[in-house]
Amino acid sequence: MTDADLLLFLGLDPARLDPALPWTPCGGAAIERLRGRRPCVRCGWPSTVAGAVDIPGHGRRWVDRCMPCLTATTPRGEARAPLEHTLAAVTGAAREADAKITIVTDGT
Ligand SMILES: [Zn+2]
Repeated sequence: MTDADLLLFLGLDPARLDPALPWTPCGGAAIERLRGRRPCVRCGWPSTVAGAVDIPGHGRRWVDRCMPCLTATTPRGEARAPLEHTLAAVTGAAREADAKITIVTDGT
């Protein structure tokens, strides 16, 4: 799998990835990167792997991953919509479908 294939598989835009430091023989930059680990979007635990990809036109970029979940913990896509917008879309769709729904949130 090439770096470009990896990014495509994980749904990552290379322009949104943090620039990575140059490769070092002992992986010191990756170890340092793991100190600021991001939570996994699936399990919530911090990323367990910090790797760099080298994409033409973008240079070396960090790709942080959670190996147990096989997912990227690197930000992807656009910013999430506010919760109020999501709830309005869900309730609107339920109204159109003439479906009765109950939405429970934790208030965050
Ligand atoms: Zn995970």
